Formats: sequence, structure tokens, C-alpha cells
Amino acid sequence: MTSNAHLLERRRRLLGGAYRLFYTEPVHLVSGSGVWLRDSDGKTYLDAYNNVASVGHCHPLVVEALATQAATLNTHTRYLHEAVLLYAERLLELMPDALGNVMFTCTGSEANDLALRAAKVFTGGTGIIITKHAYHGVTELTAGLSPSLGAGAPPAHDVYFVSAPDPLHDGNADGTLFASNVRAALERMRADGVTPCALLVDTIFSSDGIQPFPRGALRLAADEMRAAGGVFIADEVQAGVGRTGTHMWGFARHGVVPDLVTMGKPLGDGHPIGAVAARPAIFDMFGDKARYFNTFGGNPVSARVGLAVLDVIRDEGLLENAATVGAAMEQAVRFLQSREACIADVRAAGLYLGAEIVDTATGAPDAVRAAAIVNAMRADGVLISNSGPAGNVLKIRPPLCFSLHNVDRLASCLESSIAMSA
Ligand code: PMP
Repeated sequence: MTSNAHLLERRRRLLGGAYRLFYTEPVHLVSGSGVWLRDSDGKTYLDAYNNVASVGHCHPLVVEALATQAATLNTHTRYLHEAVLLYAERLLELMPDALGNVMFTCTGSEANDLALRAAKVFTGGTGIIITKHAYHGVTELTAGLSPSLGAGAPPAHDVYFVSAPDPLHDGNADGTLFASNVRAALERMRADGVTPCALLVDTIFSSDGIQPFPRGALRLAADEMRAAGGVFIADEVQAGVGRTGTHMWGFARHGVVPDLVTMGKPLGDGHPIGAVAARPAIFDMFGDKARYFNTFGGNPVSARVGLAVLDVIRDEGLLENAATVGAAMEQAVRFLQSREACIADVRAAGLYLGAEIVDTATGAPDAVRAAAIVNAMRADGVLISNSGPAGNVLKIRPPLCFSLHNVDRLASCLESSIAMSA
């Protein structure tokens, strides 16, 4: 039995059946540095997929911050500690002025769960609007707000679905269609006697196929929800922390100030940190009615890690890097699109790119070919994935320290993998 086959058998036996691996030939990673990963055979991979290692795998300053605080003290938010306050100040400095409080969790799912609890108390409503292929987490509530999980995750109570913006297919370039979809969902809510609570949206619509456009769609949609008495929750687990290059947060690209902002993955460069920023009135009312203690959320080690990540983004100019390298990446994939009929659309914001793969004869979404491209790239040492309602959108979302050199490698690997998949 090869060592991977042995690990696969043990995994299945020990961890049970609910986990899924990437790639036809799973990758057994043993170390990482920056944008590079190494497997158990010593093969290196260019990581063009992981937003979790936001500032690069095992960034030395993040590792040092973690190790130093772990060697000093780790407790929780029932004791006074300055690190959590310093981190709160730094995160809030990056938010619009209206968002004056932040609370800490360990994951994006917990952040969404907390935001929704607070929104329910604040609005007195229960009706939640999400997109048709959204993903918002793994808790009972957030899995019920994650239709992209399929039939295994039945819809939560009082949830209403809207189509995400999709200018290639819906032809709407100014965002008014998304807003009118939200308005129609609010009307359905009213007809059902349900009081509106929140519009909850991943601000780059990752699992809806990566839809960075049209800009402004979220502002118009949030206006609809607020006019009906609900709040707008921006889920920044994917688009946040500099990913889109032009702004720290995906909502800012749309010119909207949310009532609550949920964060996760990239905050900790691999360490589990989640957070919710909110208008103080919302957390004040929540605090009047409820207590919140998250044992690990906001602990001093996590706070020091979060601070180090923000320092690295600032000191290494990673927001600007995401803009310039992201633009080069988009240009390189658009160039391929001009030669490869199977790429129907390229949509990108900063270092987040979706490329829609279609059958060249029929123009229909081609998830089989998208998967073949992803697996061919993996074999050639470049890691990406695929997503979207039909599974045919190549998802390219590298660490923020991706370089122009890395773009060249990505593009040549993509080109040869498209040829191989034909
Ligand atoms: N929201 C979005 C948009 C996500 O992509 C994810 C994770 N894929 C989550 C929430 C949940 O985050 P976590 O896995 O940290 O619970």
C-alpha cells in the first residue's frame, strides 16, 4: 500500500465519512513557506488557492508573534488583557466609522451565527435573505443558510433565497436586478407574515460562482433591506482582509456601509480567528438581552496573531500587491481566454479570480473539464480549485504575497492543463 493509500484508509476509518479531499490524487502536504507548499515526496506546489494563509504560509512574523504569546500567557476574555483591545482597535480602524464595536470568535461560521443572533435581537425579526448558492458555515443555523451544501443541509427557518448577480447570464450591469430580487423576497416575506431580520451576503459571491460585479449591487440591495426594517450583514470571510486589492473589505467595493461585518479565514494566516464588527447600538441591545462568552475567541495568542497579520499586510504592502499582481493575473487569464474557447468568462477583483469553463461545442457549463483542468494543474504542481452552482468556475485565490513571477507560472500551467484536458 502506498503511504497516501494508507493515510486515506486511516482517515476514513478514524475521521468517518463527512470529510472531502481536494483532487483525484489527494495531496499530502508536510510544509509550507510563502506561496510554496511541499508534499511528503518532496514535490513543491505553487499555492494559487489558499486565502487562509493570507500573508503566506508560516509567515515568520506571525509564527513569532504566536510563539511569543503562547510562551507567555493564554487565557480568555473573562480576564483583562490588552492584546484583545489592541487588536480590536486595529480592526476597527480598518472599518467605516459607523462600525464601532468588534466581538471575537474562532471561525467564520461562529461569526455569522453571532451576527445573526444579534441581528434578530436588534430587529425583532426572523426573516433572512441569502443567495441561492450561498455558503455561510457549519453550525446548525449557518449550514441552514448554505444551500451550496446541497440536500444534506435543509434550509433554516424563515430563509428566503435570491439569485446572485451574474452579469454574463442575467445581462444586468448596474445592480438593479439584485436589488429587485431582494425587494421581491421581502414581499414574499411580508405575504408569509415574517418580519425581516437580515440580508446576509458573501461580498464576492464565492460559492455563487465568484461574482465581483456589478459594483454597487450590494448598496442597492442593503437599502431595500433597511427600508424594510432589517439589517445588512456583509460576510467578509472570502473577500475581506485585502483580497480584492482596491479595498480591505468586499463591501467597500460596493460603496455600502454594512450594519454588521463577519470575518474569518484570512484574519489569522492559518490560526483560527473570527470576528464580528457592528454598529454599537446592535451589540448594546444584544448585550442587554444576552451574554456572550466564546472560550477561545479573542484569546491573547489569537489577538497577537491577528495583529501580526495586519502588520504584515501594512508593512509588506499586500493590499497594493493584491491590486497590481491581481491585475496581471487577470490580464494573463484574459489572454488565454482570447485563445481558448473553453473559457467563457473571466471575472476578478484583486487576487480573486473566477474563470468559467464551458463546452466549446454547446456553450454549456463544463464541470468535468473544469475538474480535469484543476487536476492537471495539481499534477503539474499548481494548486487551484473549482466552484460555482455548476462546478465549472475555476477558482484562483492565492496568498496575498503572490508575485508577478508566480503569475507567469500559474498562466503557463493553466495553458498546458487546458490543452491536456481537451
Ligand atoms: N462564510 C463564507 C463566505 C465562507 O467561505 C466560509 C468558509 N468557507 C464561512 C463563512 C465559514 O467559515 P469557517 O469555515 O471558518 O467556519
